Amino acid sequence: MISKKAREIPPFIVMDVLEKAQELARTGEDIIHLEVGEPDFDTPECIKEACFRAIRDGETHYTHSLGLIELREAIAEDYWKRYRAKVSPEQILVASGTSPALLLLFSTLLEPGDEVILSNPYYACYPNFIRFVDGNPVFVDVMEDEGFQYLPEMIEAKLGPRVKGIMINSPSNPTGNVMEKERMTRITKYSPYIISDEIYHGLVYEGKEHSILEFTDRAFVINGFSKLYAMTGWRLGYVIVPIEFIRPMQKLQQNLFISASSFAQRAAIAGLKEAAEDVQRMRDTYDQRRRFLIPRLKGLGFGITVDPTGAFYVLANAKRFSKDSYGLAFDILKEAKVGVAPGIDFGSNAEGYLRVSYANSLENIKEGMNRLERYLERYR
Ligand code: PMP
Repeated sequence: MISKKAREIPPFIVMDVLEKAQELARTGEDIIHLEVGEPDFDTPECIKEACFRAIRDGETHYTHSLGLIELREAIAEDYWKRYRAKVSPEQILVASGTSPALLLLFSTLLEPGDEVILSNPYYACYPNFIRFVDGNPVFVDVMEDEGFQYLPEMIEAKLGPRVKGIMINSPSNPTGNVMEKERMTRITKYSPYIISDEIYHGLVYEGKEHSILEFTDRAFVINGFSKLYAMTGWRLGYVIVPIEFIRPMQKLQQNLFISASSFAQRAAIAGLKEAAEDVQRMRDTYDQRRRFLIPRLKGLGFGITVDPTGAFYVLANAKRFSKDSYGLAFDILKEAKVGVAPGIDFGSNAEGYLRVSYANSLENIKEGMNRLERYLERYR
């Protein structure tokens, strides 16, 4: 009686690791969580205050299905200030997280059998969204020695009449790498649309990230408040679309979700307008941890060919220890009491890797690395 789609969708393995870690924690074990994909910081005070105010003022109703106009104007202004990208509030739909935004986007763009090019490794949920609307993900391997960035000629080899979009995610989950401008401009030539998940924008520690909208209008931008503003639990994201897509997407939003949360939207406006200092503080802290973590992992024998410069992840090559990342991650959890995400969660090409998150305190990261060092002695 259970539908094929529900039966066949794979679990998000990192959530399995997290749940196992929580189970161990309940039995009194002290676990260091480096598997997490969310900021360890609390949401900045000015954002929380704006939410309290909104609730007190009675903003507890549905909003416009596209989102509060003030929020859409603030997002458009943010894209202008940061990237000199001209976006109209009419092109923006605010959703209850980037995850629902991805569902709306693929539902609007794809006919059954249509293809979307994805890098491998990829963010674990992308292929599942595409398959859920009967599309087909087409994978292009990205390699450690290229900093896990697309080689444009490898995309070219996969182009065909069914390809509707090329997905990019920079800074990337799980690799932490930032895509070079030249590669971005080259791929804009290849496909009807580029789908750019910019959720880690703002969390870049060397150089500067680029929005796809600096280079083309034939693009969908996915973004949200979960990472940069430490707002994962608020469930708020948005999509910027070519104008002809907004009405069909709005109809889907009205039917499936009605609108995003009213007071979360009011809070997000404060995020965009008032939280610059908080964001800076969080970014500086992530960077400090990154600078500690990368050399420490290399010292332990993990392979990191190109240092990651964004998001809060390191995808570390663990093949000299084990080729089975799932087994290794669970063994590290059991023996060393450290949670890490198995590469296999992010695609066949990430098998043999572990994703280590630095969304945890420097103190915990140091302790986690000390435990890993003791654990790895068995391989020496
Ligand atoms: N895209 C990427 C690349 C992510 O890492 C995440 C969160 N893990 C999401 C989308 C989903 O984020 P949200 O909380 O906005 O649904």
